This record gives sequence, C-alpha cells and structure tokens, in this order.
Amino acid sequence: MSRTPDKRRNPSAKQRREAERVQQLHPLQQRQHPSAVPADHDRLSHINIYGALPDDYIDQPFICRNCGKREIWKARDQKWYYEEAKGHIDAIAVECHCCRKAGKSAATS
Ligand SMILES: [Zn+2]
Repeated sequence: MSRTPDKRRNPSAKQRREAERVQQLHPLQQRQHPSAVPADHDRLSHINIYGALPDDYIDQPFICRNCGKREIWKARDQKWYYEEAKGHIDAIAVECHCCRKAGKSAATS
C-alpha cells in the first residue's frame, strides 16, 4: 500500500466535481460508480434504524465547517467509520483532515 497522503487530503477540483455529480445520480447508478464501496450490513448491526441501511458508500463532498476547505469524505473512509469504528449513521464528516487532527490533539472543551 503506497498512497500519497497529500493527494487524499487535497482532492482536485475534478475529483470534487465528480463526487458532487455522483451525489445527484440514482442509487443504482451510484452503485456502479468506481468510487462506490459496498456496505456490509452484518457489520452495521449497531445501527438501530427503521429505514434502510446503505447498500453502498459513495464519496461525499463536504465543506469543512472550521476552515471552509472543500474536501471529500471517501467511500472507504465511511465504510471504516461505520463498520470498524461503529460510528453513528447520522454522523457525517464536517471537518477536514487538518481540522480533525488539530481538534483531536487539542483538549476539547
Ligand atoms: Zn478544516
């Protein structure tokens, strides 16, 4: 595994546009997108909702609430967050990598 961390932190305008475009697609089209990562419902048993669990994760563009930087919450990071870290399904990325890092190392009020 040799991913360049800088590329992950700084999605190009093209990557962001593509992620924004995929948000508008029909779920069936989203599933066929190369960035889609299938969800494992067995690992989502901690999520107690009556609605449907996601079948796939797709890259989600967002704007950091802290510094206003545009970022993408990658599908594979969502999968890790929900299935490994057992995050809440309503939780969405609101801060960029840098701000989250800064927030973690600083004492939270
Ligand atoms: Zn930020």
